[in-house]
Amino acid sequence: MRAPRLGGAPRVALLALGGALAACSSEPRASRAAEPSLDTAASSADARARDAMAPTRRVAVTFDDLPANSFLGTTAAFASVTDSLLEGLVRNEIPAIGFVNETKLYVEGVLQPARTAFLRGWLEAGLELGNHSFSHPDISTTPLDEYQADVLAGEEVTGRLMAETGAAPRYFRHPFLRTGTDIETKRAFEAFLAEHGYEVAPVTIDNQEWIYARAYDHAQVRDDAELAARIAVSYLTYMDSVFGYYEAQSRALLGYELPQVLLLHANQLNADVIDPLADMMRDRGYAFVPLEVALEDPAYDSPDEYVGWGGITWPHRWALTAGERGDFFAGEPEAPEFVQEVFRDPPPRPPGPGPR
Ligand SMILES: [Zn+2]
Repeated sequence: MRAPRLGGAPRVALLALGGALAACSSEPRASRAAEPSLDTAASSADARARDAMAPTRRVAVTFDDLPANSFLGTTAAFASVTDSLLEGLVRNEIPAIGFVNETKLYVEGVLQPARTAFLRGWLEAGLELGNHSFSHPDISTTPLDEYQADVLAGEEVTGRLMAETGAAPRYFRHPFLRTGTDIETKRAFEAFLAEHGYEVAPVTIDNQEWIYARAYDHAQVRDDAELAARIAVSYLTYMDSVFGYYEAQSRALLGYELPQVLLLHANQLNADVIDPLADMMRDRGYAFVPLEVALEDPAYDSPDEYVGWGGITWPHRWALTAGERGDFFAGEPEAPEFVQEVFRDPPPRPPGPGPR
C-alpha cells in the first residue's frame, strides 16, 4: 500500500503557503454574512473575536476519479495519491466524498486487491464513496441503456465494501458533469438514478484543477521540482479566485451564498497541497460539511432544464433555466498560459508497465 511519492521536493516549498495566501486573499471580510442579531453595540471584545473566528460559509469537498487520476496510472502512483490525500483530509477534518470509477481497480481485466484497498482506506478514514460510473462514459455520446449499465457496473466493488458497514453508495456524479443533450435522456436518467437509490451529486464550484494536476504530474515525471512547485503555488492562488467567482455568482443568482460543493480530483497535486488548500478555504470563512448537509439548502431544488454539451455547474444550470445569458457568466478564472503549456506537453513515459 505504502509507496514513495513521485517527487517530494515541492511539499517543502508549499509549507509556507498557507500564511502567504491568507495575506493576499482579496475578499472583503465584512461582506461575508450578516452580523448575529445579539452582536450589537453591547458586544464585548470577546464576542467580536469569536464572531471573527466563526466560519460563516460552508463547503462540501468532493473528489472524482477514484482511486486516483494520475498521468502514470500505476498502482504505486495511486498509492502515493491515496496515502497523502487521506492523511491530509483526516488532518484537516474534511468530511469529503470520493466518486469511484471502478474500471481503475482492474489491470488487464483482473481486479487488483491493492487498488480495492485504496477504496477501503477512504471508508476506514470515515469518508464516503459515491458512484462516478464504471468507465467514465459521456452521456451525450453513449446510448442511454449502455450508459445506465455502466453506472450499475460501477457500484459492484464499492457497494460490496460499503455493505460491510451497512451502507450503500447513494450519490452519483456525472462524468464530465454532462447530463445529456436532450431533455428526454436527462429526465429518463434522473428517473433511473432514483429507481436505484441514487441522488445526483451537483457541483457549484467547477474549475481547471484537472489541468493544473496533469501539468503537475508532467513536471514531476520530468523531475522538475521547481516547475512543479511553481504550478502548485499558482494553483492555490487560482483556486482562491475561483471561490471568489462562484461566491459572487451565487449572490447574483440567489441573493445569498449557498453551501458550496467543490469539485476536485484524487490526484497528486491535491494530495501534496491539501493543507494550504484547506487553509485557503478556512481563511475565506468556510466550514467543511458533508455533501448531504450542503444539499439541505433549498437552492438545490431550483429548476434545472439545462440540456447541452456543457459540463457546467448547477448554479449555472439554474441561471440558464431562469433566463440569464451572456454577461451574467463572465469572469470565470482560467489557468495561466504557462500551466496550460505544461499540460499540453506530456513527457515520455518511463519504461515499465504502461498506463493503467
Ligand atoms: Zn471524472
